[in-house]
Amino acid sequence: MRVIFHEAFHDSDYSEEAHDSAADPGRLVGVMDALRNEGRYEVEVPAPATRAQLLLAHTEAHVSAVEAKPRLFAQASLAAGASILAAELAMRGTPTFACVRPPGHHASRGSAWGHCTFSNVALAVLALRDAGLIRSAFVVDFDQHTGDGTADVLRGWAGAQVLNPYGDDASDYLRVLQERLEQAPQVDVLAVSAGFDAYVHDRGGKLQTDDYFTIGRLLQGYAIRLGHQRRFAVLEGGYYLPDLGKNVLAFCRGFE
Ligand SMILES: [Zn+2]
Repeated sequence: MRVIFHEAFHDSDYSEEAHDSAADPGRLVGVMDALRNEGRYEVEVPAPATRAQLLLAHTEAHVSAVEAKPRLFAQASLAAGASILAAELAMRGTPTFACVRPPGHHASRGSAWGHCTFSNVALAVLALRDAGLIRSAFVVDFDQHTGDGTADVLRGWAGAQVLNPYGDDASDYLRVLQERLEQAPQVDVLAVSAGFDAYVHDRGGKLQTDDYFTIGRLLQGYAIRLGHQRRFAVLEGGYYLPDLGKNVLAFCRGFE
């Protein structure tokens, strides 16, 4: 298991949104402390995605609009590059977690909302496809909110499926996830939008820390059943900062 992280992701002044909780100062400090204190996860430093890579997922107009905001462009293209690196390492057999911001699952081809800029996870699987490394991908998004951007970017690619599990409570949620993973297709890579805002003290008010371990373990089990074990995850939401680090760590312990 490797963690993809750049110190620039600690910068919180990239966003021009009025209320951007993904850009809260210090949001990733507890996460990286928890992952580093675990002592077993090597950290890799990413490079920004190239403009050509961004255009795999986005329109010229959207990329240009973000470029007009240099701070946002720098951080968002670095988040996209981190996701691509996570995907590339996954293809070599190393499970990865990219600890990034801005998140990406509300970024569509031509626009973005909800604290997102570029469609990190969708872009990463498209980069793998463009490199001839995969022909199919399964995306699981366990953020509290539906990954509308991911679905938009991957629309039209028959080899890509996106799952946003839903459940009334934690046990229902985990049961649905397990059932859907048992029926999930044979694919070349598993990509995960890892959002932690369904947490009991966060917006969703539903999942406990242990549930994030279970989610990670269910996803790991699916990747093992695929045979090749290729899997990577990218941070999306998660706004209850006192417990974000332990929730991410619980997920990684299950997913690794
Ligand atoms: Zn969310």
